[in-house]
Amino acid sequence: MKNILVVGGAGYIGSYMCKYLAKKGYNPIVLDNLIYGHRQAVGWGPFIEGSMADSKLLKSIFTEYHVEAVMHFAAFCYVGESVSEPGKYYRNNVANTLNLLEVMIENNVQYFIFSSSCATYGEPIEIPITERHPQNPINPYGRSKLMVEQILKDFSNAYGLKYVSLRYFNAAGADPDGEVGEDHRPETHLIPLVLQTALGQRERIDIFGDDYPTKDGTCIRDYVHIADLAQSHLLALERLMDGMQEGEYNLGNGDGFSVKEVIEVARNVTGRTITSRVTKRRPGDPAVLIGSSKKAVKELGWKPQFADLSTIIETAWKWHKSHPEGW
Ligand code: UDP
Repeated sequence: MKNILVVGGAGYIGSYMCKYLAKKGYNPIVLDNLIYGHRQAVGWGPFIEGSMADSKLLKSIFTEYHVEAVMHFAAFCYVGESVSEPGKYYRNNVANTLNLLEVMIENNVQYFIFSSSCATYGEPIEIPITERHPQNPINPYGRSKLMVEQILKDFSNAYGLKYVSLRYFNAAGADPDGEVGEDHRPETHLIPLVLQTALGQRERIDIFGDDYPTKDGTCIRDYVHIADLAQSHLLALERLMDGMQEGEYNLGNGDGFSVKEVIEVARNVTGRTITSRVTKRRPGDPAVLIGSSKKAVKELGWKPQFADLSTIIETAWKWHKSHPEGW
């Protein structure tokens, strides 16, 4: 069995990735410092509590296990916080990732799959966004992801690192079996907040602005299921191992839903009352983010299985109902 080091494997997407890897015959080794991850979310493969900033620990992992590849999910991801505490974001998302890459190179670990973001594009000038769209991120979070993408290119040139950067649009949904799901603290994402409202844990969901230049005035996003993200990671790794060139890929469904539409679909899926009210815009929100993933479909052979928004919300609802307090 091939060992894959999953950094951030106790988090929302990383923990599902481990389940997916195990199902596909790989051995996921989880490294997570549990700042945002949950110990209970680690259900597949060995668990090591620690940080990617710890070179000695990384070296000991690479010595103990023959690690074929590293998948990296261990970024801080609150856009607002990245504006008020940029140092925290550049330290963790950039400096600590650089450390991880250096120790990988020293230990001859060649393959790296990186969770990047559509936040690297900034305010779109063209919809749908393709990989050739200019990258002008508008906050430190997006810049931290772009910096890592640039480091990866340089490491590939200098040291032969084989990498793929996957630019996620809005990661959403939960394990279709209901075992793994989203538990951010604090929670800021739309779908889990809407479902917490359906559960009666919140009085209402605030809609951040209805005066955007969109069909109903609310922001439009491209929601992509975590199981489809996991599928793309393994495809990217397997293609790289087969000799594919390094590169960057968008992961979205090419379909946008407004905040009001998401709430309406959640009302239908849950059958519950979900009260909403319109409040002011949240700073830094582009009106529309929709990605073209044609490149991932063509070159990676990516076939999203959970592209439908109702299905995405159904899987998330199953998780929230069975884990009302999260992990
Ligand atoms: N949103 C909202 N109310 C909330 C949380 C989010 O109206 O309580 C909106 C937000 O402004 C954005 C969309 O929902 O337009 C998706 O936001 P989320 O934070 O889930 O993801 P982002 O697009 O910021 O990555």
